[in-house]
Amino acid sequence: MAKKKTDSQPREMDRKKLPVAVRHELLMEAGYKCANPTCRNVITLEIHHIQYVCGGGGDDPSNLLPLCPYCHAMHHQGHIPVEAIRTWKSLLLALNNALDRRSLDLLLYLREMHGKDIEYSGEAYCNLQDWWRLGLSSSTSVAITR
Ligand SMILES: [Zn+2]
Ligand SMILES: [Zn+2]
Repeated sequence: MAKKKTDSQPREMDRKKLPVAVRHELLMEAGYKCANPTCRNVITLEIHHIQYVCGGGGDDPSNLLPLCPYCHAMHHQGHIPVEAIRTWKSLLLALNNALDRRSLDLLLYLREMHGKDIEYSGEAYCNLQDWWRLGLSSSTSVAITR
């Protein structure tokens, strides 16, 4: 039996529209581009709920980020893990909290080294403390060796 409705859109797109101001804030935060740092799409951006609406996720900007239709679909089809989405959101927050470029590089490095045993220099440790304060590194498990 055929499905009544072809539903190629991610589920939460059917729900009520976000307030224009929230949408604007999210687009500003992402520089009017897809939140995937390696994606250059600036075509129609969709607002994705990091924690799905059906899973209790709300319309708070901290739970939202813009994705192009391609990356959005890739995520909902399971090709882009939620951890990546959270990292992208963290990067956007970091950028907007004016952390310097070196800190971002370090954050990306940590992402690469995720799960591996690494030693941090004192300076890196200080940078990490900034993120912990901002709550940015919650998705990155970090083992400090001293
Ligand atoms: Zn979505
Ligand atoms: Zn994209």
